[in-house]
Amino acid sequence: MSRQPKIIHIGGEKCVTGSCHLMQVKGLNIMVDCGLTQGHDAGASMDSWPVRPDRVDFLFLTHAHIDHIGRLPELIQKGFKGEIIATHATKALLEPMLNDAMGFMSLNRRQIAQIETYIDDLSWGFEYNLDFDLAKGLKFKLLPAGHILGSCSIHLRVEDPEWSVLFSGDLGAKDTPILPDPQNSEAADLVVLEATYGDRRHDDRVHRVQRLGRILNRALKDGGKVFIPAFALGRTQELLYEMDRLVSDREWQGAFPMLNPNSSVPVFVDTPLGLNITKIYARLSEFWDREAGELYRNGDHPLKFEGLYGVERSQEHRDLMGIPGPAVIIAGSGMCTGGRIVDHLKAGMPQPENDVCFVGYQAGGSPGRDIQRYAGKPGGYVVLDEQKIEIKAAIHVLTGYSAHADQNGLVEWVQAMPQKPAAIKLVHGESNARRALARVLREKGYRVEE
Ligand SMILES: [Zn+2]
Repeated sequence: MSRQPKIIHIGGEKCVTGSCHLMQVKGLNIMVDCGLTQGHDAGASMDSWPVRPDRVDFLFLTHAHIDHIGRLPELIQKGFKGEIIATHATKALLEPMLNDAMGFMSLNRRQIAQIETYIDDLSWGFEYNLDFDLAKGLKFKLLPAGHILGSCSIHLRVEDPEWSVLFSGDLGAKDTPILPDPQNSEAADLVVLEATYGDRRHDDRVHRVQRLGRILNRALKDGGKVFIPAFALGRTQELLYEMDRLVSDREWQGAFPMLNPNSSVPVFVDTPLGLNITKIYARLSEFWDREAGELYRNGDHPLKFEGLYGVERSQEHRDLMGIPGPAVIIAGSGMCTGGRIVDHLKAGMPQPENDVCFVGYQAGGSPGRDIQRYAGKPGGYVVLDEQKIEIKAAIHVLTGYSAHADQNGLVEWVQAMPQKPAAIKLVHGESNARRALARVLREKGYRVEE
């Protein structure tokens, strides 16, 4: 067997979903992420993988988004019995995220319970920024990646011959609410770098909060409802954090009267998964950034504010459908492909006093994209649950919400390394994004493989 570590990109090499990498070294099979593909990306059958699932010794997880962990149940069913290594927060998020995802797979209740017990037994939570021994002289360290709670980059070091690799995982944008910025303090021979937004620049957060306030304030004035489709993990908590600022921060209160606590406009989080995840975020305050921590110590819980209500059971959801505006309703799914947001949109979009506010990427072919496209067009409609729904509500697209670092952020993260890596391999990006990022990095003297 060759002594040189071998890295095989099983998934997520040239697209942004289905992340899965395999490193073979010293007779060990080490996997980083085991994600589900989404949209038109196709995932390879596990039977065609270069390694059998029962031969994988370690599975590292960079974070708990489904496109990074979603095939874990299948991996377990196919015989995986190695160790699962993640941060403490990612371990806490695995169960609710996979429980929800498994609801869409052809598994019965007993199988789901079995898989969950298995995952709990095999997985271990680790601290950030500490060196741990893995096996056969390998060491690993998890670095904060600022993408969602618990997200990390993974540094793996091999002895004799000395060699190291750094998997960036998904890197967050700087100033993401609640989370510390991505951090890169390790030298590595090879960097496996995500490139989702390798060709973009994001807006700053202060303007984003201001635009959110302006849109909500204007939309609520005529007594209508504002629907915000949002993903349960990450985006929902970011939104709550920014609404808390708009409602609780004196600096903003005067600016947007409809969001003043005295105006008593209720904000509903109509997603059981989102509420569950928010509870986990709220509990794990030791992983928040300084700003969120300070608010908390000064008596303002950054994910709670007056007028915020959780909608847990389906009866409560049905009751909510009947209440009059003004109100803000956050519900999933983020691209309106299913879930409770669909009920709200079906009932609410034909009314002009209502508004829909998009804060996330809408993939081509999703109802969310269709709503954006046909809004404001005469006779514009969208098909939801096989019904034609007229779009009379006002549609807003709030940009600047991204869980991923932009080109500057990615380049800065690479430049923060104490030494230049021998090579950078770009993954997790469409070809335009990878090409643009590769060009900028090469100009700065890095060796880049797209
Ligand atoms: Zn992610």
